[in-house]
Amino acid sequence: MKGIKADEKLDQAFDDLSKKDIQTLLFVYSGHHDDESGFQLGPNVNYHLDKISLRLNKWNEEKPQFGKVIAFLDCCNPKKLNLNSSLKLIQFNATSPTTPADSETKEGSPFLNYVIQAFTARANGKVCKIKDCKCHERIPGNFITLHDLWDYLNEHIQLQKETSLKEPYMNAANIELRDTLIAYNYDFEVKFKFKIKWLETAERNKYVRPMEFNEFERLKLILAKDILRHVYSINLEDCSELSKFAEIISLEINTGPRTTHVQEIDKIRLLLLYWNSKRQLRCLARLLPNVNVDKPVGRCFKNVPDILAVHQDILQECNINEHQLTLPNLLQYKQRLDKKIKTTRQYDEYMFVVDMIINQAATQLQDTRLEISFFDLTKDFTLVHMNLVKTTDVQ
Ligand SMILES: [Zn+2]
Repeated sequence: MKGIKADEKLDQAFDDLSKKDIQTLLFVYSGHHDDESGFQLGPNVNYHLDKISLRLNKWNEEKPQFGKVIAFLDCCNPKKLNLNSSLKLIQFNATSPTTPADSETKEGSPFLNYVIQAFTARANGKVCKIKDCKCHERIPGNFITLHDLWDYLNEHIQLQKETSLKEPYMNAANIELRDTLIAYNYDFEVKFKFKIKWLETAERNKYVRPMEFNEFERLKLILAKDILRHVYSINLEDCSELSKFAEIISLEINTGPRTTHVQEIDKIRLLLLYWNSKRQLRCLARLLPNVNVDKPVGRCFKNVPDILAVHQDILQECNINEHQLTLPNLLQYKQRLDKKIKTTRQYDEYMFVVDMIINQAATQLQDTRLEISFFDLTKDFTLVHMNLVKTTDVQ
């Protein structure tokens, strides 16, 4: 789809969808809109509301089983979709047809946030972004109806605790009572359960709700904080050290009996896939032999305040810099490190890690170099972070 303008993509989407066996279309738009040019899909790319109505009507004429549109228009001055009388319409708008809408860029649009919150309230433990709000009581049954959703949104208008939320506006056409059921009301709480198995510590479970993250990186930070707190008694807020620690965490499922039989989960899409199929989600320190490009490994060491100085001394003795830790240089590095640890036991664990990498990750080290970084998490704990970098990329 590269090089195709956003309006052509939308046309393509209508073409593709109208070939399928679809009865109800959920259409959501959030962005700029004005009566003259329509929805703004990109810089100088617009799509008029009338054009959308035309596409939907044509689709309905060609395939009468396509008979219902549920639309959420989160924009200024939203008009009613002008549909054939053979099409049922439920349309929720962020404001009236003559009012501009607000959108907070950081938290997203308040209207859409409350719509999403309504559909996920029970699954998220009946919570609302307004403290002590009882809005979930507005959606009591097994289904979320048009009226429930309307009451739910307006509950927050009445409370006047959400000043950024404008009065929503509703259009409906050609609907019967049964058409007012918009969605199932999930009757169980949705939360991801991770079995945390951190090195030698006892296994424990950590639950994370979908509302707590919308990016995979955020999920890793939540787990990183939890592990640091429980295993090392370290409380870190968002910072680069926390991000580095999060990078050495592996979320995975088992695919067979051996330790190598694992599939790492590195995308929300995979997380949902395995969660849906009820696989046990495990969270652990990425195994040292699994180090690879963008798959760093690391360990937290206690009471090694001089480890960076030791590392730099060895590099100097080997006459190399930190960007030259290829396999042959790494072997030399290890020999020097070996001499050093004879005088102090402090670096035994570090030696073990270096040794493991050399012996277990020899294949990955063929055309890469090891990048070792050190981060002081507290006075006592230092994170040693090891990543592989392709030697072919940068010389
Ligand atoms: Zn509420």
